[in-house]
Amino acid sequence: MKYSEIMVRYGELSTKGKNRKLFITRLASNVKKSLVDFPHVKVKAERDRMHLLLNGEDSDKIIPLLQKIFGIQNFSPSIRVEKDIEVIKAKAQEMMREIYTGKETFKITAKRSDHDFVQTSDELNQTLGNAIFDIFPNIKAQMKQPDINLRLEIRMGGAYLSYETIQGAGGLPVGTAGKGMLMLSGGIDSPVAGYFSMKRGVEIEAVHFASPPYTSEQALQKAKDLTKKLTPYVGSIQFIEVPFTEIQEEIKNHVPQGYWMTITRRMMLRLTDQIREIRKGLIIINGESLGQVASQTLQSMVAINEVSCTPIIRPVATMDKLEIIEVAQKIDTFELAIQPFEDCCTIFAPPQPKTRPKLEKVHLYEARLDIEGMIERALSGLMFTEVTAGQEEDFSDFL
Ligand code: ATP
Ligand code: MG
Repeated sequence: MKYSEIMVRYGELSTKGKNRKLFITRLASNVKKSLVDFPHVKVKAERDRMHLLLNGEDSDKIIPLLQKIFGIQNFSPSIRVEKDIEVIKAKAQEMMREIYTGKETFKITAKRSDHDFVQTSDELNQTLGNAIFDIFPNIKAQMKQPDINLRLEIRMGGAYLSYETIQGAGGLPVGTAGKGMLMLSGGIDSPVAGYFSMKRGVEIEAVHFASPPYTSEQALQKAKDLTKKLTPYVGSIQFIEVPFTEIQEEIKNHVPQGYWMTITRRMMLRLTDQIREIRKGLIIINGESLGQVASQTLQSMVAINEVSCTPIIRPVATMDKLEIIEVAQKIDTFELAIQPFEDCCTIFAPPQPKTRPKLEKVHLYEARLDIEGMIERALSGLMFTEVTAGQEEDFSDFL
């Protein structure tokens, strides 16, 4: 069907009081970013609906993109006509001629937010129902779960006819909650953590620790590819590569094996927190899941967390691995994540990491390291890449 526009219904926005305007503006800008390849689409964001005027663009190509944008409850590809009963009737008949194959039941659902319109919703249901019986005398009306629900909305700006309501992604528009730094490894969990935080409105930047030559170019590329899988929800994501080789070598040379992991994680957290400050983020997000590995016992979390008082959000902390995998498959990060490129943690993984690290010992071993100097050197080597949702295009530069 040739639609003139897509009518978008907001999600939880309606409950957000005075923040509403900010939410709508942000959602509109996220929609525009994700539709860059459709320059003719015009986005009109109103108080309780957003209208995407298609201007000839193909709705079938736009629908899958809209389904990924957080903050959209549902949407309907629609045809807008003049608010004239005869015009509306004719268009409704034309639409039914296209959809009805002779078997389906139907229903009309008319709504009017323009209360000056000549007919009430009930009258409109009647009028349009009759118009359909005029052309298909044998069609069956069915009020509960009809096959075709032909909707009419009389709004200030026109009359809108539609018959499909497509589920949106729910959640809140990305960016309305502020910015967080996602610690992104090459694994299954952290991309899922990133997805969940975006769903609740957090704009993310991905921080990835790489230890070349111990970690390969492919491992780095894999982390970037995973980041790219997260871009359809926002348009683009800043990828920040942190040089971690010196730190890992120093830890390996000066710290007993049992404490490598704890101290490595503390260094990662210290660095992420500093990068967060530079990038004006508010929180840190990671993919830790309780009890999965040695670094994720409660005692380890306490020991690692000691270096920062920035809130850390762990969206998958209480999920089972299988539940995380299910989401990873849904957002298409699973296949990539299981590719066997070693990341920095696997390569320097001690045979027996402490599952109950002692803070006094951590402090003792850290005193052997030039923590501040190493942090400074790592920060001076940060590499930034803007990963975009569209075609591959990398703009790398040094800070
Ligand atoms: P993932 O599947 O996300 O790799 P995991 O189950 O393998 O997680 P760990 O390796 O213990 O668990 O990592 C826990 C969290 O620490 C990761 O989810 C991620 O947020 C962060 N992390 C680990 N390695 C890196 C890295 N190289 N760069 C950035 N963050 C990392
Ligand atoms: Mg991992």
